[in-house]
Amino acid sequence: MNYQIRYSPETTTKSRIVRTRFCKQLRKNLAKLLRMHLGLVDKAANANQPDVITVEANWDFLQLVLPDAHDQLIPQVENILSNTPGISSFNRVQVYALGDFEQIVALTKAVYAERLHGKTFVVRCRRTGKHTFKSTDVERYVGACLLQQTQARGVSLHHAEVTVAIEIRQEELFVIEDRKPGIGGFPIGTQNGVISLLSGGFDSAVTSYLAMKRGLRTNYLFFNLGGREHEIAVKEVALYLWLRFGASHAVNFITVPFEGVVGEILEKVENSQMGVILKRMMLRAATRIADEFEIDALVTGESVAQVSSQTLVNLAVIDEVTPKLVLRPLCMSDKQDIVDLARKIGTAEFSAVIPEYCGVISVKPTTRAKRHRIAREELRFDMAILEKALSEKVVLDIRKMQFEEPVIKTAVRVVSSLQKGEVIIDIRHPDEEERRPLRLADSEIVRIPFYKLNSAFAALGQERKYLLYCDKGVMSQLHASFLNEQAYTNVGIYRPDVAKSAELLG
Ligand code: ATP
Ligand code: MG
Repeated sequence: MNYQIRYSPETTTKSRIVRTRFCKQLRKNLAKLLRMHLGLVDKAANANQPDVITVEANWDFLQLVLPDAHDQLIPQVENILSNTPGISSFNRVQVYALGDFEQIVALTKAVYAERLHGKTFVVRCRRTGKHTFKSTDVERYVGACLLQQTQARGVSLHHAEVTVAIEIRQEELFVIEDRKPGIGGFPIGTQNGVISLLSGGFDSAVTSYLAMKRGLRTNYLFFNLGGREHEIAVKEVALYLWLRFGASHAVNFITVPFEGVVGEILEKVENSQMGVILKRMMLRAATRIADEFEIDALVTGESVAQVSSQTLVNLAVIDEVTPKLVLRPLCMSDKQDIVDLARKIGTAEFSAVIPEYCGVISVKPTTRAKRHRIAREELRFDMAILEKALSEKVVLDIRKMQFEEPVIKTAVRVVSSLQKGEVIIDIRHPDEEERRPLRLADSEIVRIPFYKLNSAFAALGQERKYLLYCDKGVMSQLHASFLNEQAYTNVGIYRPDVAKSAELLG
């Protein structure tokens, strides 16, 4: 199978040197993602292996050639193309040597005849190179023949139900089978790194996505305000975001234990000033971490006036503690638009159940923070506590959450084959479950998406043994450990090997 992958329009307006660099970066990212997620090796990495794929960055588009042997991976390949930053759209195409008009008709008909049944259509042809005919000649000729030779209802130039898309490039003919949108933006790695302050809520999850989409290598920073459940949930969001949009680049997930800071604020700071001061403490800590990693910009999910700490006056006072550039991609967005985008990118389900831990709840929070007042309150705050929190930060390479070592050292049982009587709990996202249902003939399967598991597990019959299943074995690990800590000893992890997993998922 062949794909023509279009760069985002902004890439194509760049100078030759920059454009070439961006295109190469996208090539590299895609080759890496296809290798990492699907085990597909590209020609550039190993030309001698059989069935290698080709990923080539041309000037106008990036070409991906998938040998027939990998046809069963088409849905997964397209899924990667639909989520990789820097792609505006991609076409699945059949490529042929350019012949005469009769041949063009025959090849186009082979792809489109069935789809034209009872439908109105239009033929669109793009052409580059020197030819003795114009693209409109092709459109007319092919259109007339298809009308005669298929069951199409008619031609409609402006309101066609089906667009028959053809491209001619020099001596090659491309018949476009299908066109899908990408997410746009720039390839990750074309811009510098940032640190995204991730609480797991709707705003910061969407913000992190926007940062990755814009080509920024996005690290995650989480302040734990108290509660292991919160940390697990935020790690899940980060891992989900990274796997779906950003896995071409290694990044860190950094946790700073902030219970002490919250405690100090609750004890020393006047109630109405707490919210602003907590945010200032977060930015101070983030600045120090950014310095350590030589990163110039922080990203937050703040949006003007969404909550009391986000009035312009307050945001300005919060900003003063850092010399870093603070990017707030959502600052002008309405909440509903943010939630809609969260649904589209799949983070809404996570954010909806993030335990809303807010240790610093002011009864009457200020909306007009005064510099001198804040400074006076902060004089009472023992900065050694912030230093201690920073010294206890945990930096985790996000790839390790996925591949190498379990995030949490645990005694949870991991099995790769099943015993009689064990019940599988499929904790995958319902969309994923529907797309690739788990087929296990001899075992009972219960479907509880990971975000409902904590509350639903207690209601299950506790005399039975349960094994959690998810596709990468990461969510299951996090949740099994968590249940284990809560003294459930009847829970383990089902982690079949890769080949077995592919078979079970059909
Ligand atoms: P969100 O939906 O992202 O949780 P919010 O509407 O709840 O945001 P705030 O709680 O004021 O608003 O947080 C504003 C921003 O501050 C968040 O978007 C995030 O970038 C950052 N932030 C807040 N809490 C944390 C935390 N515990 N760890 C890391 N960043 C945080
Ligand atoms: Mg929040």
